[in-house]
Order: sequence, then C-alpha cells, then structure tokens
Amino acid sequence: MELPKSASVSSLGLEGREADTEYVEQLNFLESSGALDHLSELRKESRELDTLINDAAGLFALTEIEDMLAFVISRLLDRFIPTRCVFLIGRPDGLGVDFYSYRNMKPDDLPFPIEYYALFKDFFAVAPYASSFSAMEERFGPQRFGQDIRSYDPDLLFPMVGIGGLFGVVLLGRKLVGGDYSSLERMYVDRLIRFLSICIQNRLHRERSITDAKTGLFNHNYFMKRLEEEVARVARGRTDSGLIMMDIDHFKIFNDNWGHLAGDEVLRALSRVVKQAIRSEDVAARYGGEEFCILLVECGRDKLVEVAERIRKGIAAMAVPWKGEFLEVTASFGCCPLDPSWRGPGESIVERADKAMYRSKAAGRNRTTIYRFGLLGRATAIRDPCPLGYC
Ligand code: GH3
Ligand code: MG
Ligand code: MG
Repeated sequence: MELPKSASVSSLGLEGREADTEYVEQLNFLESSGALDHLSELRKESRELDTLINDAAGLFALTEIEDMLAFVISRLLDRFIPTRCVFLIGRPDGLGVDFYSYRNMKPDDLPFPIEYYALFKDFFAVAPYASSFSAMEERFGPQRFGQDIRSYDPDLLFPMVGIGGLFGVVLLGRKLVGGDYSSLERMYVDRLIRFLSICIQNRLHRERSITDAKTGLFNHNYFMKRLEEEVARVARGRTDSGLIMMDIDHFKIFNDNWGHLAGDEVLRALSRVVKQAIRSEDVAARYGGEEFCILLVECGRDKLVEVAERIRKGIAAMAVPWKGEFLEVTASFGCCPLDPSWRGPGESIVERADKAMYRSKAAGRNRTTIYRFGLLGRATAIRDPCPLGYC
C-alpha cells in the first residue's frame, strides 16, 4: 500500500497509522482527488489571515501616516522586495496630492509625476479594485504613460477607498527577485492596503475634527482639551507652561475697508507666522473669529513673553499681497504664565490671558501684557518692572 506523497499525513496527525489499510486507502483517495492539496492551500491561507489580523492590529495602533507606511513597508519586506512602492494620498481639503515614495523599500525623494493621479482616479472610478498596471495601459493606451512613470517599474495598483470614495492609490513596482507576485502575495497586499486605507482615513478625519479649516490651526474644542491636560500636567510636575492670547486690532474696520476675503487672507498669513514661531509640541489654535490662543509647553515666563513679542513683531511686519496691494495688520497680546502652584481650571487661565490682552488694547494696541498673580505678583511687578505691561 502506497502512502500519499504529500506532507499531509503528518499535518493531519496520522503518523503511525501507515499500517492501517483502510486509512491509507482513504488518504490515497483524498490525495488523488486533490482534496489534500486544497486543504494545504486553505491552511496556508488561514495562516496568512492570521498574520494579516496581527498586522492590522499593529497598523491600528499607529497614529501618524508616515509610521503607518513604514509599518506596511516592513510587512512587505518580510515577503518580497518590490523595486518601487509609491503611496499617493489626496489631501482632505482637495488641494493636491501627497506622495510617499520608496525605492527598494527605503524612502526616496525622487518626485513622482503627480499628474497621473487624475488618470488613476478615472481608472478606479469604474472598478475600485486591485489591478495590474498593464490593465491600465490597455484602458488608456500605452502612449499615455511616459518614461517618468515607467521608471517606477509599475506592476500592481491598489486603490485606497474610504467613506467619500477613492482618496489614494498605491503603486507597487515589480519584485526585485523571485518573478511575478503570487496570487497569495497579491491578496495579502490588497487586504493590508484596505486596512491601511481605514487607518489613514481615521487619521485624516481626526485631523479634520481638531483643525480650524480656515487657518489650519487647531480649533477651540481641541485647544481647551489640551489646555486642561496641560494644567493637570503642570500641577503634577515641576515645569512651567504659558498661555498667549491675541486678537487682531481693529479688524472690523479692516474688513469694512478691504472686504472679508482679504480679511481671510490675513488670518491665513497670520497663522503661518504663529506656526513658524512655535515648536511642534506647542498648541496654536483659533479661539474664535480673529482671536487666537497659543499654549507654550515647558516654557518659563521670560520665554513666554519673548515668543509673544516675536509673533507680535512678525504680524506687524507682514505685507500680505492682495490684488496688487499689500495688507497690513497688528494684533494685541496677553500672556498668562502657568506654574505648578496653579490649581484652577484651564478656563481661568484663558480669562487671565484675555484680561491681559484687553490691557494691551486699552494701552494703545499692538503690544504685549503679562498677567501677574495676586498682590505679591503685583508688588514684584513694581519692584521688577517689565518693559511690556502688567495687569
Ligand atoms: P479690536 O481692536 O478692539 O479687537 O477691534 P476689532 O474690530 O478687531 O474687534 P471686533 O470684535 O469689534 O471685531 C472683530 C471682527 O473680526 C469682526 C469680524 O467681522 C471679524 N472676523 C471674525 N472672524 C472673521 C473671519 O473669519 N474672517 C474675516 N474676514 N473677519 C472675521
Ligand atoms: Mg479684534
Ligand atoms: Mg475679537
């Protein structure tokens, strides 16, 4: 009696039953019918799914898009090395496409010909499923694709689809070694990219939910949440922080003179000045209308005033191009230091910074005032006069 040649005997746990004629006959039958091969394929696929679930869990734990892409790249590397891999991601505001390019799985700064993104979108609008690059060539004609994209050695294309439809595309170059992608490999990449798409969409939605659309700064709700967290953090530790509040001077008159669109342009330019003046861990937000709040973490009183003054001067120096002319504004600032002895809610800090800011307005605008706590603080202010102003 001959045993099946496949490894299935051991994988089925039938060792030691070789002498059992009936079993061996049944196994031979299963073998000749192809059922054992099929079973072995299913086992492989089940292992793949297991890996995929673990990989998906790893992906979902990440918050930054770059980290998610690096993670996907590391997963692919476990299986094969594509010559190139490009992730094209449409920006949520619809203004452009970001691309992340990898050559032999290492980040690469070669600019990708972004104009093909529109073609990818057309292609996937019909069927948003993984496809080969040759299918795209067939649809649009090979002459539509120049050397610029062919240098990426494109082989497979994967759409990134979210609630609002297609928002990105992944282009996978040919494998460096090992011939064509197997169907299992294609299936794995396709599924992993589906998970990646969900993760990226979550990230983009979260970003939107905490961002002010007009200025790109954080919004009011997010700012208040971060402020409460910072108040608690400062109370626990020994570091100081500080809050800057600012309000554009006579902005109503500015709008009346120049129109609201010009006013919006100024709000955007001013936000850029603010972003450039602070560190990535600081929190700059549009508090409302033309009022802004900036939370400076791990920042002493002197530094707080220094940053406020830097921003104030930066705003006063702006000349925002507008219909052949230049727009200029100034803003008034109020600062409130936050030290470990502080025990009040975040809102009270805002109130104090606001009070200081109104002192700046009353004193003639385009200036900075720092809030001093209690009688002792005020006495110190008299002894140690600040070139700016106290309230
Ligand atoms: P002050 O120096 O005392 O702050 O005077 P102000 O005119 O800036 O103060 P007020 O609060 O009277 O006016 C605020 C103005 O800000 C009125 C409003 O039209 C304008 N504003 C608020 N949000 C926006 C916006 O998103 N775009 C534009 N263009 N203007 C805005
Ligand atoms: Mg104002
Ligand atoms: Mg105001």
